[in-house]
Amino acid sequence: MKKYVIAIDGPAASGKSTTAKALAKKLKYVYIDSGAMYRACGLMSLWEAVDLNDVKALSKMLDRIKLVIKYSEKGNKIILNDKDVSERIREADITRLSSQIAVIGIVRTKMVELQREMGKHGGVIMDGRDIGTVVFPEADFKFFMIADVHTRALRRWEEAKSKGEELSLKAIEQELIWRDKNDSEREISPLKQAANAIPIDTSNLTIPQQVDYLHDIILRGKNA
Ligand code: C5P
Repeated sequence: MKKYVIAIDGPAASGKSTTAKALAKKLKYVYIDSGAMYRACGLMSLWEAVDLNDVKALSKMLDRIKLVIKYSEKGNKIILNDKDVSERIREADITRLSSQIAVIGIVRTKMVELQREMGKHGGVIMDGRDIGTVVFPEADFKFFMIADVHTRALRRWEEAKSKGEELSLKAIEQELIWRDKNDSEREISPLKQAANAIPIDTSNLTIPQQVDYLHDIILRGKNA
């Protein structure tokens, strides 16, 4: 069977990464979380106290960035300049910073270059905001996942709770609304559905239902 390139885009907590991970396991594909790459850029800018308005400093930082996505049974590890940052990049300050750094042209150019390199042999599922529109406009399959904001906030709240963190549901919802707006209204590669992407509303779907839905479409071999 041909090794496809599969793009899954959509807003935060719409079910992209959970679905992409499970699907990659079923198909024995490589899963690439492009959001983690923007998160790593944000963390590096924090480590090096780079002013996001200083294009020169940012460009120097990007020349030195080394990103490795390492497969692991429990979920991919993100290695930034030889340091495992998988957990640190999920913290709230980096979540916000990733969305701020992702509006910057030179950052996106660099990340898109790395993402295309990672996906060039196919057999890859990449999730993000611009995978079907910009990174792989010729992807074999494109999906666009959405869910209402309350459902998405609840998912994040439950995820945090399972890790022993008590967060305010309202605060999570506000943060998601801010991030959706920042990601959708930016000038370069805003979050939007590719013309030929298949939309999936996951608000009332279970994870196995989501995964099976995509899996069936892929097995049929057609993006429609
Ligand atoms: O997917 P995740 O929530 O981890 O992404 C973090 C941030 O990275 C997003 O809010 C978005 O600003 C940015 N991002 C992006 N393009 C992508 C993936 C993520 O701009 N392809």
